[in-house]
Amino acid sequence: MAILTRPFPGGWAEPKENHDSMSEHDVAGNNFLRTLIRKDIEAGRLTGELVTRFPPEPNGFLHIGHAKSICLNFGLAEQFEGRCHLRFDDTNPAKEEQAYIDAIQEDIRWLGYQWSGDVRYASDYFDTLYEYAEHLITAGKAYVCELDAEQMREYRGTLTEPGKNSPFRDRSAEENLDLFRRMRNGEFDEGAKVLRAKIDMASPNINLRDPIIYRIRKQHHHQTGDKWCIYPTYDFTHGQSDAIEGITHSICTLEFEDHRPLYEWFIANLPVPCEPKQYEFARLNINYTVTSKRKLKALVDEGVVAGWDDPRMPTIAGMRRRGFTPASLRHFCEMVGVARSEGIVDMAMLEHAIRDDLDKNAPRAMCVMEPLKLVITNYPEDKVEQLAAPGHPNRDDLGERVLPFTREVYIERDDFREEANKKFKRLVLGKKVRLRNAYVLLAEEVVKDADGNITEVHCSYDPDTLGEDPADGIKPKGVIHWVSASEGRQATVRCYDRLFNHEAPDRGGEEFMAHVNPQSLDVVENCWIEPGLADCVPESHFQFERTGYFVADRYEHSADKPVFNRTIALRDSWGKAEQN
Ligand code: ATP
Ligand code: MG
Repeated sequence: MAILTRPFPGGWAEPKENHDSMSEHDVAGNNFLRTLIRKDIEAGRLTGELVTRFPPEPNGFLHIGHAKSICLNFGLAEQFEGRCHLRFDDTNPAKEEQAYIDAIQEDIRWLGYQWSGDVRYASDYFDTLYEYAEHLITAGKAYVCELDAEQMREYRGTLTEPGKNSPFRDRSAEENLDLFRRMRNGEFDEGAKVLRAKIDMASPNINLRDPIIYRIRKQHHHQTGDKWCIYPTYDFTHGQSDAIEGITHSICTLEFEDHRPLYEWFIANLPVPCEPKQYEFARLNINYTVTSKRKLKALVDEGVVAGWDDPRMPTIAGMRRRGFTPASLRHFCEMVGVARSEGIVDMAMLEHAIRDDLDKNAPRAMCVMEPLKLVITNYPEDKVEQLAAPGHPNRDDLGERVLPFTREVYIERDDFREEANKKFKRLVLGKKVRLRNAYVLLAEEVVKDADGNITEVHCSYDPDTLGEDPADGIKPKGVIHWVSASEGRQATVRCYDRLFNHEAPDRGGEEFMAHVNPQSLDVVENCWIEPGLADCVPESHFQFERTGYFVADRYEHSADKPVFNRTIALRDSWGKAEQN
């Protein structure tokens, strides 16, 4: 399988294998669906507006794969000045919940899209679908079948052998209508009867071997309450809902390719108001993660993560909390393109998309995560100098920030060594270093506790060295970040890493749980941040200089208790580990 590899500077790597199979970009910014729609317009096949839809089943939170489908469906509608509907595909009430319906809407809006008209539900069409079922029965194209699940499987045949007709296949239309109405009235138990389309038990396509179209489910439905005790199947619902809504291009993932003949059979055999067409594209798969709602739900249910929106989850809500931006996700979806055969995208591409966005747009700040105190012995004890620093090295519009400088400051513990060779361009006893946006210091003395641990480093500063480019020509080799010990603020920083430490955690069925990265979360309590940072609003993004990109937690950050999540390190350490 082709792997879309990590990006190289200034562009994107070509997939290792067949380019066409991964990303069918014929010209820049194009994909096969755009080309196809353009041809439909040119050939006069699309007379009115382009209408697409995004049809999630509300049985979990949306993940990065859904983001691709959202960008595709809403993006095409935007590009061709059409409409995109949001339609909940809610034919399986047992697994669906209002909480998911709410979260899905929030995710779509956050990505920057708005559906046309009201939120729609397949269940809005249950009455019409029921009428369609009766229409098929009356036309002799559907029948009530009483085979049990086991027999049904036996009669269905296999990929190499045709199926056998059900003994119930030749019931009269009257008898079928009567039985179907009694199914609807709740006279039979779940599983006792189903309604099947009468198509062709010998078809080489198993989907056409008299598929089930209605089943008995004595279940409360989140939209229709207790009105129904029979529910249409996905196949009987989807295409007809598309037709009822006037969808022109029904875009779905490749696993539905074999269902297309059935989709077309229903459209051809029912009095539907229009004839939508189904097109398939390849699902988005990313290495080092799983994109299946069922598996994501297992991670939540088993407490491996703190919830659907845990920042380690590949859900849209999780990535939002992790610090991904809508622009980075949309950019990523555009980058991976739209293909017709399956491939695996390298996680590094997703990580590149967010780094790229935050590098350009996130204000800079300083945060010390493992503090070591420096005492600047020649700096007055009560003095506080307000030093100015740029919000961003090349974004004047991001303004300036104020950094209080005081006699005691924190630096990272590993930015100091008593002795070091020339490669260590940080603070060394007896040597100089520059504090970022501030002065040059000389380390003069180390203070240790009884166990020999360094507790403080005493330094002197040179008052003539303010600014990055001092006129006196003092150029210490290193520049390190720092935070005032008396004016800085304490913060909690949660460092997240990839949730799986295996490239293909799905491989081998349920074994994916065994590949959870035990080091995917490291909570660092005693961090020190420049004071202005505490007052930022939740979901503000920053580059903590020399450390990585961080976001103020959407729910837990406050000025009193600052909480930041690490979105991503500055550089790809996974990539390095792989290369070594
Ligand atoms: P899952 O397998 O995670 O449960 P699903 O396909 O059952 O996903 P739906 O809610 O039915 O989830 O999906 C809504 C839409 O999103 C469908 O059109 C589906 O084809 C698309 N979609 C789901 N997963 C992906 C993916 N990995 N890449 C691209 N599109 C996807
Ligand atoms: Mg589905």
